[in-house]
Amino acid sequence: MFENRVYNFSAGPSMLPEAVLKKAQAEMLNYNGSGMSVMEMSHRAKVYDEIIKSCEAKLRKLLGIPDNYKVLFLQGGASLQFASIPMNLMKNKADYIITGQFSGNAAKEGKKYGNANVVADLKPENFSRIPTQDELSLSPDADYVHICVNNTIFGTKWNYVLDTGDVPLVADMSSCILSEEIDVTKYGVIYAGAQKNMAPAGLTVVIVREDLLGNARPETPTVMDWKVMAEKESMYNTPSTYPIYVCGLVLDWIESIGGIGELEKINRAKAKLLYDYLDESKLFIPHAAKDSRSLMNVTFRTGDEELDAKFVKEAAAIGLLTLKGHRSVGGMRASIYNAMPIEGVEKLVAFMREFEAKNK
Ligand SMILES: *Cc1c(COP(=O)(O)O)cnc(C)c1O
Repeated sequence: MFENRVYNFSAGPSMLPEAVLKKAQAEMLNYNGSGMSVMEMSHRAKVYDEIIKSCEAKLRKLLGIPDNYKVLFLQGGASLQFASIPMNLMKNKADYIITGQFSGNAAKEGKKYGNANVVADLKPENFSRIPTQDELSLSPDADYVHICVNNTIFGTKWNYVLDTGDVPLVADMSSCILSEEIDVTKYGVIYAGAQKNMAPAGLTVVIVREDLLGNARPETPTVMDWKVMAEKESMYNTPSTYPIYVCGLVLDWIESIGGIGELEKINRAKAKLLYDYLDESKLFIPHAAKDSRSLMNVTFRTGDEELDAKFVKEAAAIGLLTLKGHRSVGGMRASIYNAMPIEGVEKLVAFMREFEAKNK
């Protein structure tokens, strides 16, 4: 690793691959002979058009996005999509499954526009697990079912694809997109704020099946109308030009590793290091149920708040940063997105062992 860089376990914005930062640095003042930075370019310039088009092409290739899906590069974060989803899709009713804070926020937003039916709310269990298919009675007449695939704050993940029959499945993948192989055809809409696994903050990627376009409510702001944004190829107004450029570099980096399949192997190995240790530890208690564990956000605590604080402080002193858990779970959270090298996780586990030995 580059001198003076830390292992940053932040939940987002989070680490970017060092190779990406270096490439961006090298191209900062003069992108590809244009004599200017990507930041300074018109989004209508030919040189920029190539950047956004190739970003989309690379994303389509890596995720295997079929031709009958549109890819939109939007702004406003996943949180704006919480409102865009009902505005574009809800005629009467939608099912929401609440497995954490963000899916709860999505349901709250949905309620402003119609019947956002909460099928299950795992709050009484402090969002420590994902419900099974059998537990859920979905509405056959819903316009869509909304889930959050990876629950960033609680460290849980849907480890199966919910079967919704003919009802479109709408999935927030902000904190797991590009981390493992997925079958896009199982979803009606996939969306993700880019600042966890794709790019710097300011970009939101929406992948939407074509037949779902064209139903936006009349009062939908134009920049939130997926159909308009699809027709204008995300250029109705100025897109988030620099994050889209960096997203392209991140996708090149994934390609250079061997694609998402290879990355998934590394991600599984990284998560296994942490979970195996948590399972044998007598000090640390993992938050997520075994069958619902996230590959990207690993949550744990000692059960003693002072000891947790001591852990976070001592870890920071040796270059393991931002390990404090979200206030709603407490304890610690290690976000180990694509860009976290396995060495960072090894160093964290070694530190946890040492900490446990000293604080029995
Ligand atoms: C971070 C996050 C959000 C919120 O994203 P913003 O871009 O800040 O709106 C929503 N959902 C998930 C799963 C997240 O991880």
